[in-house]
Amino acid sequence: MQESTEQPRQIQLDFLGDLRRTHSCGELRAADAGKKALLMGWVHRRRDHGGVIFINLRDREGLTQVVFHEDVAAEVHSKAEELRSEFVIAVEGTVVLREAGTINPNIPTGEIEITAETVWVLNECRPIPFTIDEFSEVAEDVRLKYRYLDLRRPQMQRNIILRSKVSFAVREFMYSQGFHEIETPFLTKSTPEGARDFLVPSRLNSGMFYALPQSPQIFKQILMVSGFDKYFQIVRCFRDEDLRADRQYEFTQIDIEMSYPQEETVFAVVEGMLKGIFDTAGFQIELPFPRLTYAQAMRSYGIDKPDMRIPAFHCVEDIFAGQGLTTEGLPLVAIRIPNTGGASRKERDDLKAYGTERGLRVYDDAKRLDRDFPELMAKVRERTGATENDLLLLCGWPGEPKGHRPEETVLQACGQLRLEAARKYADKHKLFEGNVFKWLWVTDFPMFEWDEEDQRWVAAHHPFTSVMDSDIDKLTADPARCRAKSYDVVLNGTELGSGSIRIHRRDVQAKVFSALGLTDEEARAKFGFLLEALEFGAPPHGGIALGLDRLVMLLAGEKSIRDVIPFPKTSKGTDLMSDAPSPANEKALRDLGIQLRRQ
Ligand code: ASP
Repeated sequence: MQESTEQPRQIQLDFLGDLRRTHSCGELRAADAGKKALLMGWVHRRRDHGGVIFINLRDREGLTQVVFHEDVAAEVHSKAEELRSEFVIAVEGTVVLREAGTINPNIPTGEIEITAETVWVLNECRPIPFTIDEFSEVAEDVRLKYRYLDLRRPQMQRNIILRSKVSFAVREFMYSQGFHEIETPFLTKSTPEGARDFLVPSRLNSGMFYALPQSPQIFKQILMVSGFDKYFQIVRCFRDEDLRADRQYEFTQIDIEMSYPQEETVFAVVEGMLKGIFDTAGFQIELPFPRLTYAQAMRSYGIDKPDMRIPAFHCVEDIFAGQGLTTEGLPLVAIRIPNTGGASRKERDDLKAYGTERGLRVYDDAKRLDRDFPELMAKVRERTGATENDLLLLCGWPGEPKGHRPEETVLQACGQLRLEAARKYADKHKLFEGNVFKWLWVTDFPMFEWDEEDQRWVAAHHPFTSVMDSDIDKLTADPARCRAKSYDVVLNGTELGSGSIRIHRRDVQAKVFSALGLTDEEARAKFGFLLEALEFGAPPHGGIALGLDRLVMLLAGEKSIRDVIPFPKTSKGTDLMSDAPSPANEKALRDLGIQLRRQ
C-alpha cells in the first residue's frame, strides 16, 4: 500500500458534546417508522444522486441507510457531500418506510431509512487501503498492518464477538459448577510443557531470567495443595515454537484443575462446558462423547486424534496369517475410503507412493487381490464393509520392525495414508463440509515417548502425570508399555484439549523422575517448589487445558487461528501493526546487564 499523499481536506469537525445515540445501526425496523433517531457510526458507502445522497451508516450491530435530501435540508445535504468512506458521523433524523421497490431484504434494517435532519462530522478518515467489506479479498500482510481496519470488517467483528461470547459461556458454566477463576503469574520459572521458553531478563537480579509460562501447570497444582478445590482460568500461555496456521507464540487456554477427581469427573465438566459453548454458537452437541483408549485409537485409526468423519481401518493380519504380506508379528491394515467410485491407476499410484515413502508396502489393486486370494478377501470385505464402489488398500510392513513400539510405527504410517486417501476424495464427497462435529475422548495414553535425539524416555504428557495404578511396576521395568492416566478431547481430528490425573505423592513422583532419568537434584532444581508442596498433604488432583483459539476457529468456520485473535503475529512471529519485535535501546540493555553479540 502506498502512503496517501492526498492533502487532508479542510473539513469542519464537530464535537461529540452531549450527543447520545438513541439506537444502534442494526436496530430500527418498520415498526419504528415516524420515530426520531440519532445514530452514530462509520460511513460505509456513499452514493451521490445529485439532489439526494444515500449513506450506509455502520456500527458493530449493522447498517442503516440514511438519506440526505437537498430540498428538505440543503445545509445538511451539502455537508453530506463532504463525507467519505469511514468518516465518523452522528445523524439525527426521522425513521421512514422505504418505498416498495427500494426495500433491501439482505439487511435487518432494510425496510426503513432515516431522513437526515442534522449531521455532525466527528472525524474524518484517510483513503482506506481496502474496503470494509465481507467479500473483498485482501492480502493478509495488509490486513495485519491495518488490523484496526481489518477488525471493522463484519466477518472479523463476528469472530471476535463470538470469542467473547465463548469466554462468557465458559465462565458461566464453570461458576455454575463451583469453580473459581484464579490468576497465576506471567513472570515465573520455566514450566514443564517441553517447548522453548520466552525469557524475560530481570533488572534487579542481573543475569537472571523469568520464563513466561507455557501453561499454569505447576501453579494450578499448587492451588489444589492450597485447598481451592476447583480452579479454572482463561489464560494466555507462551511457547517459543515455530508458527503454523494453527499456532501462535501466545495462545489462550481454558485451564482447569480439581481435587479428588476420577477421569470421569473431568470428562463431565469438560463436556458440560463444551455443550454450553456450542449452544452459544448455535450448535447442538450430544453428550456423552464416545471414548477410545489410545491402543484402540491406534488399532483403528493409526493416530491418537482420529477424525471420526472418516471410517476406521481394520487390522487383517489374522486373515492373511502366513501369506507374507507383512513382516511376521506386525499389522496388516485394510484401509477403506467409501464411495470413491473406484480409483484411477494414477490415483492409486500416488497413494501407493505416499505409503511407500512412510515405509509401508501398499497393495493397491483390490481386484487383483480378490483374484489371488478370493476367500481371504471375502473376509476382508466382510470385516471392512468394503464394496466395489469403495477404495480398498491393504498395507503391510516389508522390513525389520522399527522403533520401541514397532506395531505403532506401522499403524501410524497407515493412519497417515488413511488421512491422505480421505483428503484426496474429500472434495468429491464433501467429507469435511458442513457443521458435523465428531467428538471423542482418547484415554490411557502411553506414559513415555522415546526421544530419538536424546536417546531417552521423555514424558508423553508432562512429568506430573499419574501412571495407571496397575502399571506402577512397569515404570522402570517396561517403560514402553507403561500407561498414564491422561486423556485428550478430540474434535474432527483436532486435539482440542489435553490433561491428566496428576501424581500427588512424593514417592511416586520420585519414581517417575528416575524413570525419566532425572536425578533428585535435577528434579529439585527444575520443579523444586512443586515437589516440596507435594510433601505437605497434597490431595489427589487432576485437570485439563483446552485451546480457546482453536475452539473458536472451528466454531467460526475459519481455517486460521489468526482470524479469531484480535492482534495475532504473522507466521514469522512479527506484529506488522506495532512492528514488534524491535531492537531494545542501549540504556535498557545496559540496565539489564545485557550485551548483544553481533553475528
Ligand atoms: N498443562 C497441560 C497443557 O498445557 C494441560 C494439563 O495437563 O492440564 O497442555
